[in-house]
Amino acid sequence: MTLFDSPAFEGHEGVHAFHDEKTGLKAIIAVHSTARGPACGGTRMWNYATAEAALDDVLRLSRAMSYKNAVADLDLGGGKSVIIGDSRTQKSPALFEAFGRAVERVGGQYWAAEDVGVSPADLASTRKTTKYVVGLEGTPASSGDPSPTTAEGVFRGVKLVAKRLWNANDLNGLTVAVQGVGHVGGYLADKLHAAGAKLIVTDVNEPVLREVAERTNATVVAPDAIYDVEADIFAPCALGASVNADTLPRLKGKAIVGAANNQLASHEIGRAVFDRGLVYAPDYVVNGGGIINVASEMRALQTGGSYDPAWVEMKLGRLMLTLGEILERSVAEGRPTHEIAAAIARARIDAAEEARAAA
Ligand code: NAD
Repeated sequence: MTLFDSPAFEGHEGVHAFHDEKTGLKAIIAVHSTARGPACGGTRMWNYATAEAALDDVLRLSRAMSYKNAVADLDLGGGKSVIIGDSRTQKSPALFEAFGRAVERVGGQYWAAEDVGVSPADLASTRKTTKYVVGLEGTPASSGDPSPTTAEGVFRGVKLVAKRLWNANDLNGLTVAVQGVGHVGGYLADKLHAAGAKLIVTDVNEPVLREVAERTNATVVAPDAIYDVEADIFAPCALGASVNADTLPRLKGKAIVGAANNQLASHEIGRAVFDRGLVYAPDYVVNGGGIINVASEMRALQTGGSYDPAWVEMKLGRLMLTLGEILERSVAEGRPTHEIAAAIARARIDAAEEARAAA
């Protein structure tokens, strides 16, 4: 299959491939849309088996960033980048400086940020050769770890869903199954516990799991058993595709609200979730707190100001109103939530494209 035939290529404004012989850098920067503003999305370093696999991943992820940024009503487009290589053995400051030169060549259409395999220290090297990078530490603009804001959004999403499903004003008596108690899942477990929810947790990282379970009084289960527990809400906070044809029939609760990206294994499974009567809070809506936090740093860098928590709170509040609208429309229109979320994002991107074309 050629690049232009790939279903993931659809709608991309540009795809840029870079090779730097001296450092061994092999990177792809995908810009899906700049209609709403410069494309912003993380940089992933991963040991892809083939260049095609890297290309497919970056295209899928950059399009998803357009939708996530639009639904959060940020003045940002969608993009993503990948560096092909093993982040444990092939990292060097020179590699990330070479990556910065690549970002610079895209001329501000794409802003890089942290993602799997890339740390703030790596981005500090990237910053030496481009200004189009966020997620740095130690400046007034720095937004820090996005996980607490992501967890706060998911927590508010859980409360919203509980209110809709059970008219519950608090989480007392509700059980939430949290899959993955890393950065976001850990903060989420703390918030749910403090709000009175009962927790069932799992993780493949034993020490982290034990620590979170102890401080939140949670019941621990084996990773695969999380799908079978008696919980009202399933909160996937580990990897993607955890809602699939195997796991969906096993879920006993009434809702799926979690931080993980790409929770639905396919578009069709989203329809199956709806048909089973489960309420699904679309992943890129409910986990948008993290990108809102990052966007605050970008604003500060562009204006020479500082990170602004009040702006982050305002944006997060509005995102939760959008989530409420999606849940409501799903019932009123008899349509799955992920389709409604995508329609809202698409309409916002299309409107920006039309305005740009008319200007
Ligand atoms: P993390 O790596 O800190 O946490 C993920 C946890 O999941 C780890 O503790 C890991 O051991 C565990 N895990 C992996 N495989 C598992 C399995 N099969 N069963 C159970 N546990 C498993 O990552 P994070 O930053 O907390 O992000 C979690 C998810 O949320 C990811 O999908 C990420 O893309 C998404 N997300 C994160 C943010 C953010 O602000 N960090 C924002 C948006 C989306």
